[in-house]
Amino acid sequence: MQDKVVAVVPAAGSGRRMGAQRAKQFLDLGGMPLLSRTCALLEQVPQVHQVVVVAPPGQERELRETCLAPFCLPKLALVASGGRERQDSVMAGARAAAGLGAKWVLVHDAVRPLAEPAIFARVLAAAKDCGAAVAAMPCIDTVKQADPELRVRATLDRSQLWLVQTPQGFSLELLLEAQDQARARGLLATDEAGLIEAMGREVRLVMGSRDNIKITTPEDLALARRLIGEPRTRTGQGLDAHRLVPGRPLILGGVRLEYELGLLGHSDADVLTHAVMDALLAAAGLGDIGRLFPDSDAAFKDADSLELLARVRQSLAREGWRAVQVSVTLMAQRPKIAPHAPAMALNLARVLGIAASEVNVAATTSEGLGFPGRGEGMAALALATIARLEPQTG
Ligand code: MG
Repeated sequence: MQDKVVAVVPAAGSGRRMGAQRAKQFLDLGGMPLLSRTCALLEQVPQVHQVVVVAPPGQERELRETCLAPFCLPKLALVASGGRERQDSVMAGARAAAGLGAKWVLVHDAVRPLAEPAIFARVLAAAKDCGAAVAAMPCIDTVKQADPELRVRATLDRSQLWLVQTPQGFSLELLLEAQDQARARGLLATDEAGLIEAMGREVRLVMGSRDNIKITTPEDLALARRLIGEPRTRTGQGLDAHRLVPGRPLILGGVRLEYELGLLGHSDADVLTHAVMDALLAAAGLGDIGRLFPDSDAAFKDADSLELLARVRQSLAREGWRAVQVSVTLMAQRPKIAPHAPAMALNLARVLGIAASEVNVAATTSEGLGFPGRGEGMAALALATIARLEPQTG
């Protein structure tokens, strides 16, 4: 193909500024990792023929399995191995693009999934005109220069200042030449255009967009979630049932009730707390307690279900979620539950770190109908609402 355009997506960063356990390109935005969303965006850019993703060295397979394979990305041509610096990774991507027969490359950050397709078209058109073009935004805020003690040294003329984004578009031949020269001279630049400028060649600015943010901090991620209109809360449902047998304690919502029968199960069989756990996990899209605490695991034999609930809370927190409200209804013929309901709600609220007023424990008989009515067992149905944890700052 003449005039072939390959997008190079450097995704080899370690995400040090995000402070998360995972590198930032793996973080979830609206149900997709950032990198996947960026690759899906490139599928929507008609000018881009193929895509090369550059992975952190040693993480090529993980990146392919978690961010690429689960999504429909027909333009994805290959995953290249990155280097230590961004510049090394883009070089690996540019060489891979050369192998694909590219004439033009569009370098785009993995963590800028909100660029509009029209920006790529503008950048490519300008790059075809002069060899190199980058998306940028005029500087609107006043810009001051300060020393390390934060004393202002100068106010810069903002009318001449632009904030550079990606995509950055290049003639591949020019980019490879710039990279070779930079390597020979030991030159490091924070973007590819900087290498072209160092050669004394023209780089043109093209209008980017305000929404085309680079997601590198938890605050950026929270902003991106607002920009895509991601719902702030989610709701899940949980249902559980256990058999009543002699010789077992009856524990409901962490409260031990005086009764001649108790619930049978691998753990303490706290059916009420189990339904709440399932509702929370469902809301976060984490499956159910069977996945988290398998029956086959001896560690959970006679386990205190409130402790398991605390672990569910931790699992949610790892995914960036917190519980905000729980409503659970127990179906049981006997004993009387209502006098104990406030204590159960308090237990659940304490473990989840929310106010007791956000937990409602209700109980109903089934008027003698079915297994709860015959006193053979108990069932519980729960709804849980969860919300995003506030981004951690600092
Ligand atoms: Mg259960």
